[in-house]
Amino acid sequence: MFATRLMRTGDIRMIEVPVPVPGPGEVLVRVLAAGICGTDRHLFLGEFPCTPPVTLGHEFTGTVTARGDGTDPGLLGRTVTCDPNIACGRCPPCLEGRVNLCTALQAVGVHRDGGFAEFAVFPAHRALVLPDGLDPRHGAFCEPLACCLHGIDIGSPKPGERVIILGGGVIGLLTLQLARAAGAETLLVTRQASKRDLALSLGATAAAATPQAALEIWPGGAELVMECAGVPETVAAAPRLARRGGRAVLLGVLPAGTTVAIEPLDLLLREVALHSAFLNPFTQARAMALIGAGRVKVDALISRCIPLAELPDAVRAPARPGEVKVLVLPGGHHDAGSAAAPG
Ligand code: NAP
Ligand code: ZN
Repeated sequence: MFATRLMRTGDIRMIEVPVPVPGPGEVLVRVLAAGICGTDRHLFLGEFPCTPPVTLGHEFTGTVTARGDGTDPGLLGRTVTCDPNIACGRCPPCLEGRVNLCTALQAVGVHRDGGFAEFAVFPAHRALVLPDGLDPRHGAFCEPLACCLHGIDIGSPKPGERVIILGGGVIGLLTLQLARAAGAETLLVTRQASKRDLALSLGATAAAATPQAALEIWPGGAELVMECAGVPETVAAAPRLARRGGRAVLLGVLPAGTTVAIEPLDLLLREVALHSAFLNPFTQARAMALIGAGRVKVDALISRCIPLAELPDAVRAPARPGEVKVLVLPGGHHDAGSAAAPG
């Protein structure tokens, strides 16, 4: 089969590899759709730790074509979404139920081979069966939406509160929809006009090009600020956009070593709480339910679908103007169905 593998920092290629064989407790899926995430580019650039050589891709759906010992026979033939994060279950954070903080966390598509391939193997307990009829391309949004849900759970917007979302990428546009579903008024900040239009079409109360422009629309700021851009400017702006007694949640990934100036006296005097949200602890099933019910719209976020062969270039290059989510359809362009798969 073909897989797109990060060989080392800055070196991503499509190569031919054997179809993996599921071990005990694992399933093999034929990948139907896989999303390229901002984090994949961070991995490519060496800005976020991973263990190359590794096939990237942590947001994907696929059909189970084989299973290892000790797995549910009912999974065969089912279309599933992969929850890529594998916690050890034994370290102190795991024992407290905080599995995203596991000290030995392994992620599919980061530390072990992921979904940028025709087939992928992962633990069966990380497979969630998609609701009948859910488009596998839409199912590929379950993982990013699950991360946004964790962020929203931490920020816990209340009906009628104001929420400012910084960043009009997938994470920002999904977080926007969750804040709206919670009954909040929303204002999304992103530099590109097409993304502001998209935010408004998804129900944002308002949109602005800069944090300063957001303050002109909502003087005094918002009860909750969700940082979803992952750049120093928006991280620095997040607490400043929170009202007195407000809260800010950081989701964006900044390269290791990046520092941002924040004024502690401002946080203190205005009692602004600064939180962060990492990954998707126990939120992926809810994400699947929200997409399945149409409560969170993902179709409008798909900018283009590409074959596996175009993936290395898509990861290497920064997103094109206006582009939100690029999906890889390994089977849509290669005859994955003819690849020899056990089971
Ligand atoms: P993305 O597509 O790159 O989106 C980020 C958006 O931020 C861009 O579309 C850009 O849009 C906007 N932006 C950049 N600079 C800005 C600025 N100065 N002011 C306002 N907006 C700005 O990435 P993504 O996939 O949505 O992910 C967002 C971040 O979350 C990434 O850092 C990613 O690694 C991280 N992430 C975190 C988690 C988690 O668990 N915490 C999970 C997934 C992803 P414009 O060009 O329109 O400004
Ligand atoms: Zn991701």
